[in-house]
Amino acid sequence: MLKLPESLQSFGIEEAVKTDLYIDGAWRAGAAAKRIDVLDPSTGKSIATVADATVEDGIAAVKAAHDALPAWAAMAPRQRGEILRKCWELMIARSEMFARLISLENGKALPDARGEVAYAAEFFRWFSEEAVRLNGDFSTAPSGNNKILVTQQPIGVAVLITPWNFPAAMATRKIAPALAAGCSVVLKPATETPLTAFAMAALMAEAGVPKGVVNVVTTSSAGALVSAMLHDPRVRKLSFTGSTQVGRTLLKEAADQVINCSMELGGNAPFVVFDDADLGKALDGAMLAKMRNGGEACTAANRFYVQSGIAERFSRGLAERMGKMQVGAGYDEAVACGPLINQKAVDRIADLVKDAVAKGATVLTGGAPSGGDGFYFPPTVLTGVTGDAEMVRDEIFGPIAPISIFETIDEAVALSNDSEYGLIAYVYTEDLKKGLQVAERFEAGMVGLNRGLVSDPAAPFGGVKQSGLGREGAHHGILEFCETKYIAVSW
Ligand code: NAP
Repeated sequence: MLKLPESLQSFGIEEAVKTDLYIDGAWRAGAAAKRIDVLDPSTGKSIATVADATVEDGIAAVKAAHDALPAWAAMAPRQRGEILRKCWELMIARSEMFARLISLENGKALPDARGEVAYAAEFFRWFSEEAVRLNGDFSTAPSGNNKILVTQQPIGVAVLITPWNFPAAMATRKIAPALAAGCSVVLKPATETPLTAFAMAALMAEAGVPKGVVNVVTTSSAGALVSAMLHDPRVRKLSFTGSTQVGRTLLKEAADQVINCSMELGGNAPFVVFDDADLGKALDGAMLAKMRNGGEACTAANRFYVQSGIAERFSRGLAERMGKMQVGAGYDEAVACGPLINQKAVDRIADLVKDAVAKGATVLTGGAPSGGDGFYFPPTVLTGVTGDAEMVRDEIFGPIAPISIFETIDEAVALSNDSEYGLIAYVYTEDLKKGLQVAERFEAGMVGLNRGLVSDPAAPFGGVKQSGLGREGAHHGILEFCETKYIAVSW
């Protein structure tokens, strides 16, 4: 039973959402009597409880995926593609329901939630097309003695672990390529946002995904459950999106069975603005890069480096725009910035702001939580942020924009690369040559050049350094779920 706010009662959420584990095509309460509370971050109140999977439930999901694997892998790629395309159609047809559901459990503002639904659904469509384009290779050995035939085969049962900040898109970015490649999966969504994952499981069943091919388990014991799955020899793939800290732990866990790993981890994106940037465009880009999802995105601009000649105008402009954003319940149509995910995030960000101010920063707008119900923090802009402030060393994951000034290109590049992370970097300049040169020098898997938003299912998404391993989306995404097989042939 869901406890929906009145404004959300006519969107079909109640009918779409199940709250039990989805294993082998059936909804199961799970072995544990205990259930997990799901909160509405806009009010801090419980909206539902979901089943709490035990290790046995997790292993049952692995067994179901393993049993379903041979038939799914053998299905004609076109047929798998058609099922994925049906998933896209159904998700688009229900986009308002999904947007409101995402907003309800995650807190993001409706325009962001709508953007996420379109992005999430597109992975189904993109990989429905990739399913029939999984090409191999063929050549003659240099010796002339044999032919070299190379094929791509599904890697097997995949465990997928997703974060709360994009409850739909982080799941489809993994499920769609896995299914397109012929793999079966067990998805463990974040405990804060399980409802969207369950609604998608129901949608995929309706679209024709056979039982056991997609399983979804929620748990309050992620460590124990995932460890057990990664030590089950039937599991051959781990695809994880989340923090670098948890990613490191899981890489160690996966080492015991030498499980193939894809890791989409944390970021600390620099946003560089040169004097010759178009101020209006740079501010538009900064708002997108900083405030999409209220700053709770791995791609969020985390550190603004602005050249001295434009710094004051840029800082004033950003403070004005961020200060005007209406903060409130994400599912309220008028709201531009929803709450953070939980109280811990609010407290953490308040501490980061205090630390930056103690080290010399000035608050231009925002600065402290307003209190009351819900997990709110106002959009905040700080100038004069020093290099030792914690918020420039670490991922902020909230609506805070720290600005520092630089003078030269070399200084901008050095500051940008001074991080253990390397997911994405942004640069604004009207000089394309300079922009491309700087883009090449960034230690990052992705660059936004005069762009505040880069995510695209047709483009390879991923980071370097401690931001991850592998790529999602594009053609690269399906290859993460394939094993390359070489057959030496003579005739
Ligand atoms: P998180 O704490 O690392 O959690 C991510 C997922 O891992 C959740 O499902 C979580 O389950 C699970 N988990 C936690 N501890 C685990 C353990 N010991 N063993 C197995 N699973 C475990 O990250 P988050 O707070 O949800 O998400 C924010 C982070 O994700 C940020 O660092 C952000 O940059 C990153 N992110 C990266 C990308 C990318 O594409 N690079 C995209 C989005 C987000 P519980 O919910 O039950 O704890």
